[in-house]
Amino acid sequence: MAEAPNKWQRWTDTEDSVVDLFPAREAAELLGRTYQAVRSRRDQKGLGPAHGNQKPKKRLRREYFQTGEGPREEVVPPPKRPKCRLCRRKARAKGFCLKCYARLRYRAKRADG
Ligand SMILES: [Zn+2]
Repeated sequence: MAEAPNKWQRWTDTEDSVVDLFPAREAAELLGRTYQAVRSRRDQKGLGPAHGNQKPKKRLRREYFQTGEGPREEVVPPPKRPKCRLCRRKARAKGFCLKCYARLRYRAKRADG
């Protein structure tokens, strides 16, 4: 598990289906990725437990149990990927994109010295 040869590879459709089909630990070994990477990919896709039919994650509805009306479960949409606090790029570090993060660190460093 320590070495993950495919760590920096883009996710392909085949790999995504493996992520859906197998439990996270097995998928990680099959794909040569880290366990954490597989978990995070499942989360991005909004997938529930391993089953292989790409069913979305679901939660039970409170109203169904209180009033008995409507469907029992509702689909949980996949979480939005975080955006940078200053621009519209993808957030990578502490809510900033790498560019903004580097700029702020540079400014902080200059202010100190
Ligand atoms: Zn930014």
